[in-house]
Amino acid sequence: MKTSVFERMSLAAAKHGAVNLGQGFPDFGWPPEILEAAAKAVVEGSNQYAPSRGLPALRDAVAAHYGRHQGLELSADNICVTSGATEALAAAILATVEPGDEVILLTPAYDAYAPLVRRAGGEVREVALQPPGWRIERNAIEAAVGPRTKAIILNNPHNPTGRLFDADELAAVAEIAVANDLIVISDEVWEHILLDGQQFTPVASLSGMAGRTLKCGSAGKIFSLTGWKIGWLVASPELATLAARAHQFLTFASAPNLQTAVAFGLAEGDAWLQPMRERFTRARDRMAAGLDAAGYAVLPSASTYFLCVDLAASGIPLDDESFAKQAVEQAGVAVVPLSPFAEQDPSRHLIRLCFAKRDDTIDAGVAALAKAR
Ligand code: PMP
Ligand code: GLN
Repeated sequence: MKTSVFERMSLAAAKHGAVNLGQGFPDFGWPPEILEAAAKAVVEGSNQYAPSRGLPALRDAVAAHYGRHQGLELSADNICVTSGATEALAAAILATVEPGDEVILLTPAYDAYAPLVRRAGGEVREVALQPPGWRIERNAIEAAVGPRTKAIILNNPHNPTGRLFDADELAAVAEIAVANDLIVISDEVWEHILLDGQQFTPVASLSGMAGRTLKCGSAGKIFSLTGWKIGWLVASPELATLAARAHQFLTFASAPNLQTAVAFGLAEGDAWLQPMRERFTRARDRMAAGLDAAGYAVLPSASTYFLCVDLAASGIPLDDESFAKQAVEQAGVAVVPLSPFAEQDPSRHLIRLCFAKRDDTIDAGVAALAKAR
């Protein structure tokens, strides 16, 4: 397995003292009352193994949260708490993919998917989304489905492009899944980071999808606490139980004090959500305006912490990896090249930047990028 591009770029940022606009983590914005709830849970003694599927309070809170926000009718039986969405993905893949199965990835794809599919004995079939629209084309997925296809891994909203797929695109995925009896592993960790007042629809809510979808979520994204690594799987009781069996032998259970704090945060109400979205929308706009003024061609982004820049359209003759190396070593700013997100047809003229930063971090990063060209 290769070193993840996120680790590679964060280590380079630390080595060169660079502004880190590579790996996606915010440098502001976590609710202080959730930190206090975690501290209290540590001190008051919630420090031994949690039940493997998660604390009942958190499973109930996750089920209620998705009922409120996404109209999903869930109970604790639909939920398995994991150590971040990364472990949710691993459990979902190990539970459903068997040797010889094919799994469709829409590229550019988050870097965890392909290695996990292969470790489960599966084969990866890449379907390339094309910039700058990055649309899901029904025909392209249909052409990739064969007799051995077991699953499609969907990531909506989409990292690294920042796209939120529309109703037609989601319907195409759902209809193909139903017609071919496929599982959909839906990585929805960015579901709440919606810019410009966008609305999110979970693919599990589409006709025929509730029994074949494994949805992955992350408290790290919801509460801007990416290091906490509390995530979950949401699925039918049958699929959730299958995934929970895999989860037993990955980590067994996740930190109980952090689960308590996340349950508290989810149950507290949703007053923080709208200000968070507005804050991230302003951060994206600030970074995009700064980059534009520095001569960079910025692609649109409707969600996530990320926007992409087209180096070729910015008049920069370097490929993404060469630019990333030069930017971190010479200009003092870490970015993420897009080519590690696809094997068959990688975009070599695009980089990803994390805008989930304070104004001073954005300004320092943009100033460094202005020097990097
Ligand atoms: N999936 C996607 C698409 C992500 O962007 C991330 C992290 N940013 C994850 C999964 C992993 O989430 P976690 O940190 O909760 O493991
Ligand atoms: N998901 C984060 C990103 O896309 C990084 C997570 C990680 O470092 N594995 O930047």
